[in-house]
Amino acid sequence: MKKTKKKVNKKRVLILFLVILIIIILIFLTLNLKSNKTLKDKGYNNLEIIEIEKLTKSEIDTILKYDYNENLIYMIDSENYNPNKLNLYLKYTSKYKDIDYLKMFELINNNEFKETNIDEYVKYLDKYDISNTIKYVNNLKNDVELNDTTNGFLSEKYFIEDNLDRYLSYYEKHKDLSYKEIVKRINSNLDYEFYTDSKAADLSKGMYTLVNKFFYLDKNYVPDDLVDVTGIYARDKAQLKKVAYENFVKMADDARSKGLTLKVTTGYRSYSFQSTLYNNYVKADGVKNADTYSARPGFSEHQLGYSADLTNKDNVSFYEFQYTDEYKWLKDNAHKYGFIMRYSKENEYITGYVFEAWHYRYVGVDVATYIYENNITYEEYYEYFLK
Ligand SMILES: [Zn+2]
Repeated sequence: MKKTKKKVNKKRVLILFLVILIIIILIFLTLNLKSNKTLKDKGYNNLEIIEIEKLTKSEIDTILKYDYNENLIYMIDSENYNPNKLNLYLKYTSKYKDIDYLKMFELINNNEFKETNIDEYVKYLDKYDISNTIKYVNNLKNDVELNDTTNGFLSEKYFIEDNLDRYLSYYEKHKDLSYKEIVKRINSNLDYEFYTDSKAADLSKGMYTLVNKFFYLDKNYVPDDLVDVTGIYARDKAQLKKVAYENFVKMADDARSKGLTLKVTTGYRSYSFQSTLYNNYVKADGVKNADTYSARPGFSEHQLGYSADLTNKDNVSFYEFQYTDEYKWLKDNAHKYGFIMRYSKENEYITGYVFEAWHYRYVGVDVATYIYENNITYEEYYEYFLK
């Protein structure tokens, strides 16, 4: 009796299990058939359905919310396909049928894409490239219109939104210049006059502080942690900020291992010393000439303590330094120690100083390397990355 009851129980459990299994299989099949059937009803062909069925259930549900989309398969097969954006792809490729779906796909995939701006984007998508369209609509649309000129500026690597009005008005007066050249000039403030539109240097930038003919230091400004540069590292005696000194020493030691000698002639210069220096040059040479090679007091990078004028074992003059092996070596190595040649030949009109092969500024290895590799001035670097 007991035995039979046990057997019956076992049987019941087994039957129940089978029934549940069959129900599950039936539900699954019906659902699958249903989605398959609905996809078919939507107009997808068998090949398309095979591709769609590789997606997750929730993606398929999203697809079923929309009418047949002839570009769906291309989008889901693309390496840039993002399942989280499937709904947006379907919504806007069907809403804007005149727009090339690839453009719409790329637009939606862009990191700066904002759905609320979609109607604005589509106004420009036909004519201008996607990233410029997004930049323009997201940031600028109230100020200026997007046309070939603004588009030209938007395409520039160092384009700065806040400077667009200045690019455009400079362009009006200098239509012969390229967009690239105008961006370079405006980012270096060349639409202003040297020394007439100057502001206090932003010392909160620390070792990145920009001092030039637009940014000056107070006459009482003296950097802290200046250290003496002496012995084999200096012609006589000089001073530099500690970090600049330490990296100069590394650079000079490595140069020495190549048989080269680097010595500092001047590092830090006080406001009053610069004042005497500049005034003597003016007396001898007139303001106009003096301004091309000497900074007015307060406007000298030497007052910051991060700049060094260099010579070699023969104590060659500033002018002769460009012909030395030391200069040749510095050209391709200074950046590895965080130094940049601050006043290059090709950028005399940007810096306002004649070529100074001997003048190096410490800005740290990362910044110096970027400037070296991209061949830009510190003015341009500062405006684009640091300001
Ligand atoms: Zn100098």
